[in-house]
Amino acid sequence: MSAHILIIEDNQANLELMVYLLKAFGFQVTFAENGQAGINSAQTAKPDLIICDIQLPVFDGYEVARQLKLQPALRDIPIIAVTAFAMAGDRQKILTAGFNGYLTKPIEPELFVSQISAFLPANKAVTAT
Ligand code: MN
Repeated sequence: MSAHILIIEDNQANLELMVYLLKAFGFQVTFAENGQAGINSAQTAKPDLIICDIQLPVFDGYEVARQLKLQPALRDIPIIAVTAFAMAGDRQKILTAGFNGYLTKPIEPELFVSQISAFLPANKAVTAT
């Protein structure tokens, strides 16, 4: 069974690219375009993994991570930041906020799916061939 991935991203071009790549590899994908909608989607969809932008309307990515980690039903879902922030201090801030890892923008289409799969259990991951 393929993994279900929730993407929380307000940039249309990045969102479309991530949805396209993940669907092409057989993942089931849900998306939300602001932090509040993302939390709601996580509660409804119970995804296997969440990809989350940092700069988001309503709640930012840090608040999304904080709220997810407060909810016993959601706190074990891996959450990966996808962010243009690449300075050393941001890396620590992202990991301290509860993210399991992060990818920096721009998204690299040839690497993205295997980068994400590294955070999934082996039986739910796909590897690029
Ligand atoms: Mn954004």
